[in-house]
Amino acid sequence: MAQGCAHKTLFSNGSATCIDGLSRLSSDLSMRTALLWCFSGVLLLLSSGCHVLTPQPIPVDKYFTCDEQLQATKPVIERGREMPVLDTVGWIIGIPSKIILWDSRADRHYISPETEQVLAKYIDDNGLYHVKFRLNQYAPIQDWHRLRANKSVGWGWRYTLGVLSLAGEAILPGRLFGGDHYNPYTGTVHIYSDIPVITLHEAAHAKDFSRRKYPGTYGAIYLIPVVPLWHESVASRDVVAYLQYLGNPALEKEGYHVLYPAYGTYVGSAAGTFFPDYANPLYIGGILWGHAVGRWNGSQVNPETYRSVRDGDVMSPHFVPSPVQESTTVDQSLPIYENGAQSANAVSSIPY
Ligand SMILES: [Zn+2]
Repeated sequence: MAQGCAHKTLFSNGSATCIDGLSRLSSDLSMRTALLWCFSGVLLLLSSGCHVLTPQPIPVDKYFTCDEQLQATKPVIERGREMPVLDTVGWIIGIPSKIILWDSRADRHYISPETEQVLAKYIDDNGLYHVKFRLNQYAPIQDWHRLRANKSVGWGWRYTLGVLSLAGEAILPGRLFGGDHYNPYTGTVHIYSDIPVITLHEAAHAKDFSRRKYPGTYGAIYLIPVVPLWHESVASRDVVAYLQYLGNPALEKEGYHVLYPAYGTYVGSAAGTFFPDYANPLYIGGILWGHAVGRWNGSQVNPETYRSVRDGDVMSPHFVPSPVQESTTVDQSLPIYENGAQSANAVSSIPY
């Protein structure tokens, strides 16, 4: 569910075409050309203004959570114990992810304190104290308890898709195979990459699911082809808004470099469902498009003029994230996002 953006297989489907005649070749080529134009047109449309992931904070009135889940979450962030051999094998298995995102920190199986700090601040700013964040940790038994405690998701979903997702995590552990993701049935974020923006993206999924009255159904429809584009866009747009709120040009630049190709994998996969014979080139095309648009947007972030631009009309009021008012069970006043109200690398005071 809401799997990490790098959790895709680069060469998932064969795209070999059976060419048994000149006419077949000709029609195949014209089909390819038409498809290429069609796909290019869609990408061009998505790139209009070069900001398909326009900053849009997820509006939250309240979180649908429960006391049991909240109690089962302390501490909010946990780390797996060090296992150098296993993590080295995991690093190697994660090479395709590193290539897709063009970032060696993908599926690194080590999360630096700097990355954790950015994540902790996001948790703090959004009051996500009911979500467990496992940093390179394998804990299916504990997650089983979390699944049972997560009454905010209907039991019908928890004991079907929830059990299946948990079984998948137990049998194909991310600790070895990587794949940052959020599991809405256990209410747990699993992180294996040392990329702050990815941790924010997965946390944004948690924020998105937590505000929904029917998170199980929202998770189930993620399995329908093309639909994930919606979930992914909601999460990534929240991250872009948050990065702008932080006011850290380097982090915002990195955000574009990672979020766009990651989104491109979903665009490519969605296109591939319509043209299964061309699934692989479409998938790769989506990634390349993401890198191109991401680099372009990143190049527009100028550290020299950043502060003046972000403090100006560009940020206000459209990009200011909405305030998180309160959780249904957590009686606390949560900080309101205000542009420039806090420094970029403020140390979080999250109680974990
Ligand atoms: Zn995602």
